[in-house]
Amino acid sequence: MSAVSLTNIVKRFGDVTAVHRMSMDIPDGSFLTLLGPSGCGKTTTLRMIAGLLDPTEGDITIKEKRINDVPIHKRNLGLVFQNYALFPHKTVAENVAFGLKYRSVSKADIESKVRDALELVQLPHVGDRYPRELSGGQQQRIALARAIVIEPDVLLLDEPLSALDANLREDMRVELKRIQHQIGVTTVFVTHDQSEALAMSDKLVVMSNGKVEQTGAPEEVYNTPASEFVARFLGTSNILAGTCKGLDAKEVSLDIPGIGQIQVPRERAPHISQEGPAKLVLRAEKLIAAANDSPAPDGFLDLPGAIEAVDYQGQAARYFLRLGNEQLQGINMIDDHPFNEGETVRLRFRPRDCAALPGQ
Ligand code: ATP
Repeated sequence: MSAVSLTNIVKRFGDVTAVHRMSMDIPDGSFLTLLGPSGCGKTTTLRMIAGLLDPTEGDITIKEKRINDVPIHKRNLGLVFQNYALFPHKTVAENVAFGLKYRSVSKADIESKVRDALELVQLPHVGDRYPRELSGGQQQRIALARAIVIEPDVLLLDEPLSALDANLREDMRVELKRIQHQIGVTTVFVTHDQSEALAMSDKLVVMSNGKVEQTGAPEEVYNTPASEFVARFLGTSNILAGTCKGLDAKEVSLDIPGIGQIQVPRERAPHISQEGPAKLVLRAEKLIAAANDSPAPDGFLDLPGAIEAVDYQGQAARYFLRLGNEQLQGINMIDDHPFNEGETVRLRFRPRDCAALPGQ
């Protein structure tokens, strides 16, 4: 069953169309992420589900009930935003209890639900403190406890981790996923951070300019991007223009200037249906710079290249590589020490690690 469905949703602000004919189903209990660059319409979509904005066109249903005209306080939703929005003059326990006050819940039940929610976010002993006496990460956990204590039908999270520093963010995303799993609440998460989206989601919706570019499981979207936009937005991709010279049930044969003939698995090129202009998508982490005297492993193409620039990243290096007329990027783990600028190398990758897209 779908917990939330959007059907042909349009949102216009004057001349600006922020969301353009968006349809999606969010399965019950799943974690769905709206991912895309700033201004693509993620927050607008979330706010329409929340009831903070009215759609210009289209229908929104929650648990199969059309809710376009149901006001926010009657939607039974949990909301967490980037700024924790805790009440500064209320204690943590009062903050968490806030949403329960307006429901017919007895005082004893409120106490036990608040206790359970604080335990779930692993802050069982801070009920008597004030928000200012907690760290940013702890405040965000309390905001989460406040959102889930009401047992919402849907949890809506708008960039909830973006105010936290990098290490805390990574801890919190594991924590958030654990909590979501434990209570099984359907969750819609908005972020522009691809690593967060890949790590946390059951289903990813990549958006651009108010439209859905691609929907799918993280691995599916990462490995088989449906457009150049998705290939470039998620991870680092080299995109090489060429021609599709033939296709069958097993593979797609491409001719790429500077590389030659290359066979990409059919399932990595589902959008190519005929011969003609096509593009090879080669992920930077799949393009290996290797020493000239090292043997090429089986199944790898082996081409002459050069290191143009090195972006040292600790355990890995991002190389800017020259292959004929193209500059490519390779992100490689460093075994010993990185290559230096100006060195000639062998450039290696497996055709089966590539994807292909139709078009110029
Ligand atoms: P960000 O990551 O920066 O929050 P976003 O993907 O969430 O971006 P939205 O906030 O949904 O994007 O905005 C989508 C588009 O709608 C943008 O062009 C934005 O300027 C416009 N927009 C959003 N809210 C309003 C508003 N209240 N009035 C006019 N235009 C708006």
